[in-house]
Amino acid sequence: MKTFVSHLLSILNQAKGTFLQAGVISALVVFGVTACAERLVSPAQNSAASATEILTNATAITNVTVIDAINGVRKNQTVVFDGDNIVSVQTAGRPANTAESIDGTGRYLIPGLWDFHVHLTYDERLTAVMPQLFLSYGITSVRDTGGLMHEILPVVENMRAVGEVAPRVFFAGPLLDGEFVVYNGIGRPEIGVSVPTPELARQQVIEMHKQGVNFIKVYEMVQPEVFDALTEIAGELDLPIDSHVPLSMRARDAGPRVSSIEHLRNIEMDCAAGAEKLHRARLALLQNEEGISGAALRTAMHSEQRLPAIGDYDEAQCDIVIAALQDTVMVPTLRLNSFVLLPPWQRPDWREALSRLPANVSRDWQTQAERRRSSPAGNPLFANWSMFLTNRMHDAGVPFGAGTDVPINLSVPGYSLHSELDMLVKAGLTPLEALEAATLEPAKFFGLEADMGAIAEGQVADMVLLDADPLEDINNTKRIVMVISKGQRVIEQ
Ligand SMILES: [Zn+2]
Repeated sequence: MKTFVSHLLSILNQAKGTFLQAGVISALVVFGVTACAERLVSPAQNSAASATEILTNATAITNVTVIDAINGVRKNQTVVFDGDNIVSVQTAGRPANTAESIDGTGRYLIPGLWDFHVHLTYDERLTAVMPQLFLSYGITSVRDTGGLMHEILPVVENMRAVGEVAPRVFFAGPLLDGEFVVYNGIGRPEIGVSVPTPELARQQVIEMHKQGVNFIKVYEMVQPEVFDALTEIAGELDLPIDSHVPLSMRARDAGPRVSSIEHLRNIEMDCAAGAEKLHRARLALLQNEEGISGAALRTAMHSEQRLPAIGDYDEAQCDIVIAALQDTVMVPTLRLNSFVLLPPWQRPDWREALSRLPANVSRDWQTQAERRRSSPAGNPLFANWSMFLTNRMHDAGVPFGAGTDVPINLSVPGYSLHSELDMLVKAGLTPLEALEAATLEPAKFFGLEADMGAIAEGQVADMVLLDADPLEDINNTKRIVMVISKGQRVIEQ
């Protein structure tokens, strides 16, 4: 299925240079055409350069081992890129006629990484520094899964401004929640809005689409009829849907109707022997006769059902659920879900990562970490369950995306994506599959796999050069020598 973005891109490609005037481009950028529209407006692409000129502006990375999820491992390659465009990838031997050359001997080149679950506006102390932190850790694209429009729009516009050094950004706008909103600004940030009826749900999505969102995020408190309306209007507007399984529904019913699911949220409830009974109990609780807040209601429902459901695990029930989720990208956020199994302070390089944050945040998080380190470890049941379910889904061929929920729960922007990759491998993915979860799968979610997610001719020039093999140890994705973002060498160590 083509997305709105890829549809517009194909129009752009057909048009070539003929109508790519500044006005048209800026209008399209405002309407949410991101990754490749940016590439199309780069000066090199916009000029009527001859073939020779293109090569003299280009850069070659020579004698490098290229690793991506489509082609696997290719040794001894010369990769030529010109502006935000990979011109060629071929076996080394022929000197590339390029202005610049980077020696890739003994090094490994992977596609630019994605953090597939970020919140740029969650902590205002971090918003301004996040783009640079992401790039410094090789993250050249991010998917923002929840922020109010008036807060996220200026951030997105800044990151997409011509000449700005920042990752590509794709955003959802606010969490679309039920009558009782979880993230309502009371006791936690306000990143959700209420869409209590099907009609309001449609209106909300139409309005957000006009403002340029790249997908929508459906949250936990929506009712089934609102879920129906949201999936319908998103389908009409060609917007992918990211979601939590709504508490009013079952994973096997909601899951196949969305493109991705975060945190494996509420799937355990449908993997229980008593799944049907648990569902009926949730519908009763959602009546919310005491009128408590959305956050309190959700917490009550999680406490009442999550661990008991895991205790009541039924393999046959779960097989049905997993089969229903075959085409839905799972973003298990294991760094978060399985936090207690490997808290960040147990990683040797965490202190260094923390030192890159603004001093006030770094101090805060250090204090939080000390406090938590000295208190009893939490119940590991849910953490272990998350690893187990990821493993089972992986065996069953369910696709995965690598996302962190940064900055929630001591998630250092950029750094934490590497922790997530490590956890995905610990859960059973191969290192190459973990890379796929942070490159190709996110591109596919937006229908952009022809342009992003691999290192091949015609792809955008987002690449990370490493000095150690990430397939030998996934933690080698932190051994960064250079980051190329939109054809620019933004980080060099
Ligand atoms: Zn989130």
